[in-house]
Amino acid sequence: MIALLLACSTEPPAPPVLPPEPIVEAPEQPPPLPPPPPKNWPEPPYNIVVITADTLRGDMLPMNGNEELYTPHLQRLADQGVNFTRAYTPITTTLPAHASLLSSLYPSDHRAFSNVSAISSRIQTLPEELRLHGYRTAAHINMPWLNPEVSNVPQGIQDIRRGDRVRKADKTLPWVLDYVEGRKDKEDPFFLWIHFVDNHTPYHAPAAYDSLYFEGEKGSPGETSMEEIWHLFPGDHQRSEYFLSWVDGVESADYITGTYKGSLTWLDQHIGLLMNALEESGQWDNTIFVFTADHGESLGEHDLWFVHGGLYEGTTRIPLIVRVPGGPEGVSIDRIVSLVDVAPTVLAHNGFDVPEAMRGQDLLEPDLPTKGGAALLEHTGRQLEGVVTERYKLIVHLKDTRIYAGYPMNKGTVELYDLQEDPGELKNIAEQNPELVAQLQGMIPALKEGSLEEYEALSGEINEEINEQLQALGYFE
Ligand SMILES: [Zn+2]
Repeated sequence: MIALLLACSTEPPAPPVLPPEPIVEAPEQPPPLPPPPPKNWPEPPYNIVVITADTLRGDMLPMNGNEELYTPHLQRLADQGVNFTRAYTPITTTLPAHASLLSSLYPSDHRAFSNVSAISSRIQTLPEELRLHGYRTAAHINMPWLNPEVSNVPQGIQDIRRGDRVRKADKTLPWVLDYVEGRKDKEDPFFLWIHFVDNHTPYHAPAAYDSLYFEGEKGSPGETSMEEIWHLFPGDHQRSEYFLSWVDGVESADYITGTYKGSLTWLDQHIGLLMNALEESGQWDNTIFVFTADHGESLGEHDLWFVHGGLYEGTTRIPLIVRVPGGPEGVSIDRIVSLVDVAPTVLAHNGFDVPEAMRGQDLLEPDLPTKGGAALLEHTGRQLEGVVTERYKLIVHLKDTRIYAGYPMNKGTVELYDLQEDPGELKNIAEQNPELVAQLQGMIPALKEGSLEEYEALSGEINEEINEQLQALGYFE
C-alpha cells in the first residue's frame, strides 16, 4: 500500500538547493558632501570703485587673448567677476569719454567733443545720483582738463585730488590707499573713481618694466624705425620739448611699444595693492569694482603712431572687467558693450533706479544675449562717426582734417571692415557692399535716437599751462 502510494504520488520533486548568492559588497565610498553653504554676501548698498586706465587698449589684456602680457592682479579680478571681451568707448578722447562714463550719455547727447569743452550742469551724473542715496563720493584725477572747474565732468564728487602734472601709479596710489583706509569704519558707502595715466604718452615705467617686453637696445646703431615714422607724428609732437625729451635717444619704435606694455604690468601691480588693501580692511566683499579705460591707443595701425585718433580697434576697443559682490565669477562675455553701460550697471546692482536719460543698460542683466549688439563710435571734433557690430565696423568721415599725417580725414569717405575676416581693418570693403553700408549707416541715427534732453556744451576754462600740456600731448595743433 505504501509502495502504491509512492508510485502514484504526483508531487513534483523538490527543487535543487542552489548555492547561496555571492554577496557583492559595494565598494566603500564616502557619502557625497553637501554643497557648500552660499557665501553670506553683504547686502547693498555697496562701495563702488571705478578705475579708468587712460589710453589702455582692450587687446592688451591676457583675458582678451593676449598671452604676451603679464597682469596677474587683473586676472585675479576677472576670476571674481565678468570680463567683456568686446567693450567700446563712445569717443576716443579723454574728457568726452569720461563724461560718457559718468553720465551714461553719448557725446552727441552731452555735446563735449574735445578736451577743451565742459558738460552742462543740467546733466545728472552717476556721482550725483549716488549722493541722493547717501554715498560719499571721491576721485583721483590725473589730468588738469578733467578737473571740475575745467570740464565739469566730476559733478557731484566731494573729495577730489585734482589733476596736476601727470602722476604715475606710484604717485597716485598713496592718496587712494589713505582714502580707502579712512572709509573702513564709516557707515555711508563710498564711490571712488581713480584715473591712472600710465599708458598715456609719455609711456614710462621703472626700468625693469620698460624692458619687460623689449629685448634690444632703445638706441641701437643702425636701427631706423623711429626715423622712418617720424614724419607721421602730429606736428605739435615733433616740436614739443615734452615729447622730444621723452623720445630722446630712442631709435626703435618697438622699444616705445614695449614701454607701453610694460606700463600695464606696472599698473597691474598697483591695482593689486589696492585690491589687497580693500581685502585687508574688510571692504572687498562689500565693493563693486570696475576696471576700464577711456579709450585705447594706436600703435602704428593705419600709420597712426602713439596717438588715439581714428576709430579703429586699437583706439576704440577698451578693457572692461566688472566685479559685483555675489555676482557671476570668472565669466567672459563677447557681446558688444559700451562705456555708457557702466553707470546703469552699478546703479542696478545696488537696487537703485536707473534714470531714464541714461543710454546704457545693465551689463549683468541675465536675459541679455552673450553675443550680438552694436555700439556707437564718435570722434574728437565730430570728425568721424561710426558703428561697430559683432562682425562689421563702419566709419564715416564727417570733416576734412589733416591732424594725422598718415591718416587724412576726407568728408564723405566711408570705411567698412569685416572684423571677422579682417581683424586688422586693412581692407576697406565699402564700395563692394553698398547695401550693408546703408544698413549700418542707418544704425547711427537709430542709436542716437531718443535722447531725453538737448544739452548745451560749455567752454572749459583752459589756462596757459593746461593749454601747453594739451599741445604737448598732441590734442590739437
Ligand atoms: Zn584719455
